[in-house]
Amino acid sequence: MRNQASILHVDLDAFYAAVEQRDKPSLRGKPVVVGGTGGRGVVATASYEARRFGVRSAMSTAEARARCPHAAFLVGRFDAYRATSAAVMSTLRSLSPLVEPLSLDEAYVDLRAGREEPDLTSTELVGIGQELKRSVEQVTGGLTASVGIATSKLVAKIASELRKPDGLVVVAPGEEQDLLRPMPVGVLPGVGPATAERLRRIGVHTVAQLEQVSEKELIRTVGQVHGTSLYSLARAHDPRPVVAEREAKSISVEDTFEHDLVDPVLLASIVDRHARSVCQRLTKAKLSGRTVTLKVRQHDFTTSTRSASLIGPTDKAAVVSRIARGLLEDIDTSGGVRLLGVGVSPGSPTGSRMTSSARTTTVLPTSTPPSSTSPHRISSPRHTSYCAGLLVWTSSIEITGPAGCGAPGWVG
Ligand SMILES: [Mg+2]
Repeated sequence: MRNQASILHVDLDAFYAAVEQRDKPSLRGKPVVVGGTGGRGVVATASYEARRFGVRSAMSTAEARARCPHAAFLVGRFDAYRATSAAVMSTLRSLSPLVEPLSLDEAYVDLRAGREEPDLTSTELVGIGQELKRSVEQVTGGLTASVGIATSKLVAKIASELRKPDGLVVVAPGEEQDLLRPMPVGVLPGVGPATAERLRRIGVHTVAQLEQVSEKELIRTVGQVHGTSLYSLARAHDPRPVVAEREAKSISVEDTFEHDLVDPVLLASIVDRHARSVCQRLTKAKLSGRTVTLKVRQHDFTTSTRSASLIGPTDKAAVVSRIARGLLEDIDTSGGVRLLGVGVSPGSPTGSRMTSSARTTTVLPTSTPPSSTSPHRISSPRHTSYCAGLLVWTSSIEITGPAGCGAPGWVG
């Protein structure tokens, strides 16, 4: 944990919908839903006007239509989103040389980077945040962003959520735990519905209650890796550094099924098989990886990727499999799964082994398109890194067309 609030998290508000409202003035002030518009489509982003009717990201478009029939339902214009995102990211890079984009509309900025002795008092930080929000508005043609500034990634991200939209929250050093304690455990990365339910069964609803549970009991409840991580996060302990775009190489295996699969036992066994296959390739390439990514394409072509990172690299199938199964548990697969993939990526360089084997053919740079004969690239995994000993989860939702032609995009 830093002794200065020097990590900034910025997140554009209802990004895709805001871009649509910017470009089509008739939509301003009206409910706008961007996402799959077909019968089995899923909402990517809802404008705040639509959220008032209970429309949320990842909800089926059918349900969104039922809740807000008069909304404008739009498919995404990803070229416009990407161009707007590029303008925002370059604004961030003028603030600090160290910027870690998480998606098109979200990034961490290390305010300490490139400065000798930065003045990061709360007053100064509020000024930095306000100035950044003004610049974002200017370069995007009127979009608002929410900003959180704190001593860690964990708290900066939570802070940026607090006063959305158009928010700015600075959490001073020492105030982190007071902020987190009253919050529901779901605020912590990695606590999805399944984990939240397990914690609920031992009487844990809030971060304060989580803090009272021993590490041993947490491990018993949610498993070794996740338990250790939660124990740290409950104490607002998150030493993850801000890292600029890494050289992302990953090895992954995925399968598309002839029929949608619903049997959880079968899905778990496919995860095991993929884990073994990925690890065989890792071993062959003399590689190991820290970040395990699970990719699940649902019956409606919604594709979720979830990642978790270990503190150290592994090439052990049992470890990869256990993590990937855990990630699978937090995804609702009851509607049927048409594609399942498991991938492992370095997350951080694994020393000379990495360098010496980087030329082998099983290692694909992210710019290499997937092919049926080589390991597939896991599509745009959001950056993850280890946290306080072990593991941090990230997740995202992508919308693809039935022919795979739709441009991928991430929930705003
Ligand atoms: Mg956003």
